[in-house]
Amino acid sequence: MTLLGNMRNDDGVKICICGKKFAHTKAEIEELFGYRMSKGKRIEQSWCKECR
Ligand SMILES: [Zn+2]
Repeated sequence: MTLLGNMRNDDGVKICICGKKFAHTKAEIEELFGYRMSKGKRIEQSWCKECR
């Protein structure tokens, strides 16, 4: 496991540490978590926007 805090369940659903936010699609990740840029790559934020 190299993606610290980037949690997904067995169905590939992204889950925030708060356990309240779930993202099933790229669009939901964009809306609920957002992205950051790292070395020219888009990285999913680990925490939802409410937790940050
Ligand atoms: Zn959260």
